[in-house]
Amino acid sequence: MKVQCVICDKQHELENDTPLAKKLRNRPIHTYMCDECHERIEEKTKARHASGQFQLYSFKGKEKDF
Ligand SMILES: [Zn+2]
Repeated sequence: MKVQCVICDKQHELENDTPLAKKLRNRPIHTYMCDECHERIEEKTKARHASGQFQLYSFKGKEKDF
């Protein structure tokens, strides 16, 4: 089946029997993301997560000063 990446609009050919293809067929609303964009988003998420953890740790550090 042909799928289109929601981020870069590139079209990809997906094997029909993969779990992802089945998911997309059952739920057309389900958006497809190509590997390239998926990696990019994952890196952003990780970076956000890391900065969130940093804030958490610095907050805990402040608490210890009391
Ligand atoms: Zn893409």
